[in-house]
Amino acid sequence: MIQVAEALNIIAENISKMPIVKIKVSKSLGYVLAEAVYSPIHMPPFRQSAMDGYAFTHSDLKQFEVVNTSQAGDFLDEKIEKNQAVRIFTGAFVPDDTDTVVMQEHTRRTDHLLQIEKMPVAGANVREKGEQIKKGELVFDAGTVISPAAVGFLACLGITKIKVYDKPKVAILVTGNELVPAGKKLPKGKIYESNSLMIEAALKTVGIKKTSIFKVKDSLKKTILSVESCLANFDVVLISGGISVGDYDYVKEALLKNGVTELFYKINQKPGKPLFFGTKENKIVFALPGNPASSLTCFYVYTLPALKKLMGFDIIYLQEIKRKINTPFKNTSGKTLFLKALYDDDNVTVLESQSSAMLNTFAVANGLIVVPHYVTAIEAQEEVVILPFN
Ligand code: AMP
Ligand code: MG
Repeated sequence: MIQVAEALNIIAENISKMPIVKIKVSKSLGYVLAEAVYSPIHMPPFRQSAMDGYAFTHSDLKQFEVVNTSQAGDFLDEKIEKNQAVRIFTGAFVPDDTDTVVMQEHTRRTDHLLQIEKMPVAGANVREKGEQIKKGELVFDAGTVISPAAVGFLACLGITKIKVYDKPKVAILVTGNELVPAGKKLPKGKIYESNSLMIEAALKTVGIKKTSIFKVKDSLKKTILSVESCLANFDVVLISGGISVGDYDYVKEALLKNGVTELFYKINQKPGKPLFFGTKENKIVFALPGNPASSLTCFYVYTLPALKKLMGFDIIYLQEIKRKINTPFKNTSGKTLFLKALYDDDNVTVLESQSSAMLNTFAVANGLIVVPHYVTAIEAQEEVVILPFN
């Protein structure tokens, strides 16, 4: 059995990035750029007014004749004399003969006559051509994660498509004779199936939407067939349940029969000991424990970084934070513990119901406290490491 850190290393070493694809900027939120992007234009493309006011040439003059109007979107090509001004609005083209814009609040206007009451400095309120970025300059380096602002910046440069690392198509395969979908009547001995929806929701937090859910009974033959079909059609296969040591746990055997290479099985941790990670060519498989809290814990700690590595992210792990624990805690298990916890700006509380079968407190937790396997006791007010969920 391996330790947590070793398992994380094995994952990082055995996953490479997804293929590069060209996608629309409008659909690129959350993708990682595979290639640097350079600006095809100057931005702004022309000298722009930063204010509603009047454009003029800065000199000793304080009185001007207003000869024209430059509204956003207009292009004025006529000569403007030194004693003339143009009524102008934010974002509008600043005529070539003028160099300064005075805000309208600092002027007095009578018909065509403009009096500047508070003279701005020369060049004021004019956004220079290429002030934000010049044609040919770097917009974003490879590795940039596309944010809403990045979508806006690319669009304002007229860029419609970018090269990114593709997002994986993920199969979620749930195993178990006892599982009934929510919405159906619950027969005796059965439980409602929840892992598939939970994992699907967790995948959405990293922007993975191409997911399909499959279900299989606890039968070796059927599990082999389901795994085969998932491997054939998806980049990542996430299996729930059937990976422990019970008589009806067929997942490991089904994976090996399908030619999946076992990279690790079982980690010295609680919850989630029977986690399996393997690959087949460029396909990735996680067999997550069936107990819901174990399943989601393993997803956050191991599957999420793996998916982020695939998608080209540089930072793949949940960012650790530290808080003071409210109550003392003992770890007699010799295992690394991931404790459902609720933290605020200063402190963290270990929640009730730490059982791997229970989601009731996981559902309100905002992170997991990590208690390393070699730590046996934590005092109240001692700082602990937390993996926050967002
Ligand atoms: P297993 O690993 O298959 O032995 O499952 C461990 C526990 O998790 C059992 O109590 C199962 O009933 C439960 N379980 C397994 N899969 C699911 C699922 N998809 N949704 C809810 N509970 C599950
Ligand atoms: Mg089972």
